[in-house]
Amino acid sequence: MNIRYELTKNKKVKPDYNKLGFGQYFTDHMFLMNYSTEQGWHDARIVPYGPLALDPACAVFHYAQEMFEGMKAYKTKNGDIQLFRPMKNIERMNRTNERMCIPQVDPDDVLEAIKAIVRTDADWIPEEEGKSLYIRPFIIATDAKLGVHPSHTYLFAIILSPVGAYYASGINPVKICIEREYVRAVKGGTGYAKVGGNYASSLKGQEKAESMGYAQVLWLDGIERKYIDEVGAMNVFFVIDGEVITPALNEGNILPGVTRASTIELLKTWGIPVTERRLAIDEVLTAAKEGRLNEAFGTGTAAVISPIGELNDDGTKHILNNNEIGPISQRLYDTLTGIQWGTVEDTMGWTVKV
Ligand SMILES: *Cc1c(COP(=O)(O)O)cnc(C)c1O
Repeated sequence: MNIRYELTKNKKVKPDYNKLGFGQYFTDHMFLMNYSTEQGWHDARIVPYGPLALDPACAVFHYAQEMFEGMKAYKTKNGDIQLFRPMKNIERMNRTNERMCIPQVDPDDVLEAIKAIVRTDADWIPEEEGKSLYIRPFIIATDAKLGVHPSHTYLFAIILSPVGAYYASGINPVKICIEREYVRAVKGGTGYAKVGGNYASSLKGQEKAESMGYAQVLWLDGIERKYIDEVGAMNVFFVIDGEVITPALNEGNILPGVTRASTIELLKTWGIPVTERRLAIDEVLTAAKEGRLNEAFGTGTAAVISPIGELNDDGTKHILNNNEIGPISQRLYDTLTGIQWGTVEDTMGWTVKV
């Protein structure tokens, strides 16, 4: 792939790296590439970060034909820059594209584009462990037509955002709320695809949870409202009687997280029993009542491992593991973040140097 460079002459003043938060600041450049039926993907370029000029009739604004990905670049103690299993994200990108009638991308070209934009703005990557450069690739449909139809033209973009440690004061258990009214995804829908529409439809439930003082929603399946799907925008794991259980992916309503897959692989290498299956909310609540629910946690690129301290079921509060991080959550967090920041040997071969 031939990438054209148009570098900025006005580099931004960097924000205070002690107050980065998540996704608030963006770097000096962005990667862009266009698609048309005639030319395929073309005009790969790295240009100054800035607003996009789009026709108000663009398909993405009206019918949400779009997709996105999320991953991070990490700086190690010896100055290396590395990615964590980037091909997993790129493969998922093409599975999302397939579901959204968006053309496939060349995985090697996308990896090259990610490396190129990260190298261009490498001076933005935080040096401190726990902080990283969040990478947000996305594709939007750009046909300026109001008919409901897959677009013939697309824009692929990659933007970068330096982000802080997800938990400013170390890793803290979150309070979550079981959502029985709204659903996030249904079988046959787009739950397994990483698309904005899933998030738009989750806002109402999330807002409700937040108004009650809860950080995240525990989503149940859209048909029977009986089985656990995900927690907020993370995959979810429960440890019952020493067995780690996470909802299986085969119904198509769960996002196949890279952190989820890595968690399962690590547990297997450690000899900790881990099962992917349908998991009814009643089974979890019964285990909680009987004191057999040892710990629970969410997994995702942003927070890595997010322990669950409280589960609210229509006002009945279940406190998990004394509202403290459990041993399995802690070990997973330490190992995954250690591999990512290069302080734990990557025996799994998961990191890719930029
Ligand atoms: C991105 C995402 C996840 C986590 O996936 P990772 O690859 O681990 O970051 C989980 N659930 C939803 C709905 C997501 O969008």
